Amino acid sequence: MPNYCDVALPIPLDRTFTYAVNGAVPSVGARVLVHFSGQRLIGVVVRLHDDRPADASAIKPVQQVLDDTPLLSYELMHLARWVAQYYIAPLGEALRSMMPLAAEVRRHLVYRIAEAGRRVLREGETLYGGTLKRPSHRSRVPAEDEDREFVVLHYLADGHAATVSAVRSATKANKALLDAMVKKKWLTREALAEERDARRTERIAVLVPDARIPKLNENQTAILAELAAAGGRMRVDDLRESLALRELGVPASTLSTLVKRGLVAIEETPEDFHLGGLPADGKKNAHEHALNEAQMEALSSIATAIAKNGFKPMLLYGITGSGKTAVYFAAMQRALDAGRSALLLVPEIGLTPAMVGQMFAAFGSQVALLHSGLTPDERAEQWHRIRRGESRIVVGTRSAVFAPMADLGLILVDEEQDGSYKQEEMPRYHARDVAVMRAKFNNAVVVLGSATPSLESWANSERGRYTRISMPSRVMDRPLPKVELVDMRIEFKDTGKEEIFSRQLVAETQATLDRGEQVMILLNRRGYSFTVLCRSCGEKIECENCAIALTYHKPSAQMDLHVHAGDRLECHYCGFRRSVPRLCPKCGSEHLFYLGAGSQQGEERLQGLFPGARIGRMDRDTVRGRDDMERLLTRLHSGEINLLVGTQMIAKGHDVHGITLVGVVGADSSLGLPDFRAAERVFQLLTQVSGRAGRGELPGRVLVQTYHPEHYAIQCAAAHDYAAFVTKELHYRRWMHYPPSCVLANLVVQGKTLEEASALAATLGRWFESTPLGKVRVLGPAAAPIARLKRIYRFHFVLKAERRDALGHALRALLAYAESLSIPRRNLIVDVDAIHLM
Ligand code: ADP
Ligand code: ZN
Ligand code: ZN
Repeated sequence: MPNYCDVALPIPLDRTFTYAVNGAVPSVGARVLVHFSGQRLIGVVVRLHDDRPADASAIKPVQQVLDDTPLLSYELMHLARWVAQYYIAPLGEALRSMMPLAAEVRRHLVYRIAEAGRRVLREGETLYGGTLKRPSHRSRVPAEDEDREFVVLHYLADGHAATVSAVRSATKANKALLDAMVKKKWLTREALAEERDARRTERIAVLVPDARIPKLNENQTAILAELAAAGGRMRVDDLRESLALRELGVPASTLSTLVKRGLVAIEETPEDFHLGGLPADGKKNAHEHALNEAQMEALSSIATAIAKNGFKPMLLYGITGSGKTAVYFAAMQRALDAGRSALLLVPEIGLTPAMVGQMFAAFGSQVALLHSGLTPDERAEQWHRIRRGESRIVVGTRSAVFAPMADLGLILVDEEQDGSYKQEEMPRYHARDVAVMRAKFNNAVVVLGSATPSLESWANSERGRYTRISMPSRVMDRPLPKVELVDMRIEFKDTGKEEIFSRQLVAETQATLDRGEQVMILLNRRGYSFTVLCRSCGEKIECENCAIALTYHKPSAQMDLHVHAGDRLECHYCGFRRSVPRLCPKCGSEHLFYLGAGSQQGEERLQGLFPGARIGRMDRDTVRGRDDMERLLTRLHSGEINLLVGTQMIAKGHDVHGITLVGVVGADSSLGLPDFRAAERVFQLLTQVSGRAGRGELPGRVLVQTYHPEHYAIQCAAAHDYAAFVTKELHYRRWMHYPPSCVLANLVVQGKTLEEASALAATLGRWFESTPLGKVRVLGPAAAPIARLKRIYRFHFVLKAERRDALGHALRALLAYAESLSIPRRNLIVDVDAIHLM
């Protein structure tokens, strides 16, 4: 029997911790509860051994083993190690992101009798002859409480641990009394963790057959009648809510009475898995189409690879509207047919009701969903369904890449270029890249799908690492929309006014609405104005916590029931809000100037321009949950909305057949930013949003308003020329030494004060200068683009290397150096393959 186990804990330290096995031996991959510097933490056992640690006397025992069998498979443990290694993150953090730990364990307080308590009990019994009474004149405790204390001691005398509620119902003692006894050291109190069954259950009321019906009152009769009418079974919640009973005002206790009298039984059954609604727009589901030739070819490459049972990474480059979804579904079916399971990853916004509805239509209850909108309980429930093998098809966002599926045969990553696959907290993994590794460990096929593949994936397909499959035309030979550029510099010269919408966009919008077609306009910032500038001192009004300009949100007009109503300035990074100042907070001038139109202002302006239009707005202020999204899309599909304005949310994946005109406003503003991915992002956004036009019978048009009409990202997007764009962009990246022609990591150094952060940055800067790191280039330290975020001051270094092992080596050496100086790990953020250098 091993004496020790190494436990990975979810804390920012790059090591595991040894605990003594105490009683039950946990298995590798099981969770244990342990003490760690005054806290109780849940960790995962990563190794069992007999290597006596040097400080064996200081080794603490495992408090509790939480799983009888490993919760994580060997494969997932392996993947966690890879994530920890590759992203330079603590193993415990990698493991934490793999499972729903939080919801899994319920901690509750239990009380036990302590030695002093036993003594009191013994004394009491010898002195007072075993009665519970004892004179209390010298005590300040009321006699009644004192009696109760004895009752409690008696109740716990056999040494068992009892929860508050158990003690309370047995002795009528309340928590205050128990805590007072703990203070006197008569009892001990400890927190016990207990796994709970994450499956939600629901209570069903069932008519007991052949029960002898005694005389009943009116309420009781009503319940029995209601149950009988429902065929003898009904969810308790539904029964209570049923109209007949509510009208009669039947109290909840009546049901309990019937249960006590043996007329109704209560069953607990696992709650059904409730599906989201399906869009009722009469469109066919993806799996119902007979695949066209290009789709068949794509499917057959994927299916052939699945049949070979080996690792195969593929890039599915299919333009917008080429019908990638139908290919995904058919490929998943092939994986199922081959006896394996399949995982579909979608971007945060990609998990729309339409997508979910199609999944259920195609695969029924085999589908499990994992996304950020689930409560911890729901997440745990889905997780366990997958682990038990009840769901062999999983669709989910980023963290679903860790879904505990067995026999994984196929992983699909839709919109693989999407930034939401990168986790922006530790461990900073990229789900697409984890997906590729996971497929490798499973001898599975992984398909990265996109109309605008990331430069990284494209380069991998050029090098032959990924097999490329192309779907170069739209289904039914539908044409791609014609894209036209509107030069806003000329527009300004001609009109002398800074208008949000150009004359051409206004005219074409009107014409499109007049023809009874739909229009979509992208305004890629939310809020009303994204900067408030003082004309006197030239300062922007910034967030109190961040070096970020505040965005102005106007009080919402009329029918606007948005949660965020109110006149305010808001920080989009930390959520800070303040009222709108009348005077500049810096210089007191009243010349405040509102700059830059966000989607809210866009909507207001459109209402003025097109009073007859049925306008909808889609951004994070109007879409707060999945229901909001569903409602908006339903109204869009049905034609109830004919003019939609919104942020990039509108650009992603939506397949609305009535949209024939797409307008793009201000999407090129980021081209001026010092961000090496700016051109790629603009190209992708323009291509995606253009791809929303002309998806139905009628051809589409796109108008792009721009101040950079000659920029290659704009030019290539307008020409639907991905190939030309990547050629140019790859050239630029090679020239400037940026990924994918090198590997890169962003190292952020942060501190609570400017002095602390800059001193730290200087120390590390000196270390970089004096330490030979082979072929790693280090840029910095420099103030981070967001120099202050949530009251933390930030500097950064950018590390670039030809080879990944050199990069990893440099980062590890730096972390070791920082540790030798006792610099807390939380002051350093290591972002390997960073997509934002913020
Ligand atoms: P994308 O490649 O942009 O993700 P979708 O998968 O959304 O494209 O498909 C675009 C549209 O084409 C959808 O309405 C889909 O139902 C339809 N579609 C897919 N395959 C076919 C087909 N073989 N024949 C006709 N329509 C199809
Ligand atoms: Zn000012
Ligand atoms: Zn802020």
